[in-house]
Amino acid sequence: MMKRTLAEIAVMAGGTLTDESSGSLMAQGVSKDTRTLAPGNLYIPLIGEAFDGHRFVEAASRQGAVGSFWQQDRPDAPEGVPLILVDDTLAALQRLAVNYKRQLHVRIVGITGSNGKTTTKDMTAAVLQTSFRVHKTGGNYNNHIGLPLTLLQLSEDTEIAVLEMGMSGRGEIEFLSRLAEPEIAVITNIGEAHLLQLGTRQEIARAKTEILAGLLPGGTLVYNGDEPLIEEVLPELSEPGRMQAPSYGRVRFGHGAENDLYPSDIRMDAKGTHYRIHEAGARDFYIPLLGAHNVVNSLAAYAVGRHFGLDAETIARGLAGAAVTGMRIEVMHAPSGLTIFNDAYNASPTAMRAAIALLHEAEGFERKFAVLGDMLELGENEAAFHREVGEMLDPAKVEAVFVYGPLAVHIAEGARTRFPDNRVRHFEDKEQLAHELGRTAGAHDVVLIKGSRGMRMEQVAAWVMQLG
Ligand code: ATP
Ligand code: MG
Repeated sequence: MMKRTLAEIAVMAGGTLTDESSGSLMAQGVSKDTRTLAPGNLYIPLIGEAFDGHRFVEAASRQGAVGSFWQQDRPDAPEGVPLILVDDTLAALQRLAVNYKRQLHVRIVGITGSNGKTTTKDMTAAVLQTSFRVHKTGGNYNNHIGLPLTLLQLSEDTEIAVLEMGMSGRGEIEFLSRLAEPEIAVITNIGEAHLLQLGTRQEIARAKTEILAGLLPGGTLVYNGDEPLIEEVLPELSEPGRMQAPSYGRVRFGHGAENDLYPSDIRMDAKGTHYRIHEAGARDFYIPLLGAHNVVNSLAAYAVGRHFGLDAETIARGLAGAAVTGMRIEVMHAPSGLTIFNDAYNASPTAMRAAIALLHEAEGFERKFAVLGDMLELGENEAAFHREVGEMLDPAKVEAVFVYGPLAVHIAEGARTRFPDNRVRHFEDKEQLAHELGRTAGAHDVVLIKGSRGMRMEQVAAWVMQLG
């Protein structure tokens, strides 16, 4: 993590020390939260809707913070705490992070997309870790606060940083990309997440391609070639008045054989997925994750590995050992023997399609069940999106569909166009759903559980796990 004197930090952040004599004090790392602050940190008081971090500057100091930022327009600056006066604490954090990163010799990988960012980030880091000192975004720290904090976690000897970039509107990825200045940028895919804010999938594609804004000249864009919208909007970036992208190389990945990287021979076992990558010949690849969509995510990690000069064998070794952040299709086994594909982390139509494909293709089970909750934030066509999800479910492969939530009623509607009525059920109560599932599904069966984060569908998994 960053280790700099307060005098150095003041220059990097564009601020001034209130007391020059504190300039030689050394800060190690930064913290924006007194609950997780470690002694030696620099405290960054951010101003949120509900809280103003300036209220906790003295507490931070008592907990061992070496010093703190202080926004000039805030009254009552405390005495006795070394302060760096800044115009705006968030902007100062971002400047500090950019300048710190530029002092290092670190090479940056930026990852955005509607779905699969964290999974791809984790797989990419696993690939690169075979051969480099790598730091990756912790958890989901992917926004205008999380990304600078991640940059400040880098060490002098970090060789590559793998950074996730998230957004909920136009301009955000452009901003993050300019902060991070990646030499290689990944767009995992274009889905429907944030359709509510952005209006159309085209606008979502435009927002994702903003990742080119900070790409270093001569850098590489790795993107999903199955998604025509990305190629459709890329030329717009060179139109007058738009951000000017540098010259860059392209690598396209996806299922289609017209991509530079595409998979074949996809076979799932109970814990992961085997496949081949066309470019790498007959070599077997394995990821400890289920589903063809994760195979596609892994192609982006492969492309990044190749960019850094790794051979297929090394990449395969990295992918096989990838540790992926929890709740993304976690396979659980209930005491009854029922297998649970817990994919309750989040949901959008694209993610639902991928998960349903996984359920359809899974082998070795007697019966399959789908437990689906609402997909949130989809905007005015939300009912149609839910109905389409219901229509995707194949009655020849899925025994029964249980849905929960007011929008999921439309999933049930869609499913009833193909399923007999008694195999599609809507529940008002999640616990009741779990009991019914526990009663119906047994030892040789599998259930997919999925819904938006706000629906907390993982509770269904937790209850089924307790049922015995
Ligand atoms: P967030 O926006 O919350 O940060 P994310 O983009 O980081 O999400 P992940 O956390 O990697 O995405 O995966 C979230 C869910 O998206 C997974 O549980 C899975 O259902 C779905 N998903 C992942 N990859 C793909 C893909 N390539 N295509 C479709 N759906 C996917
Ligand atoms: Mg994420």
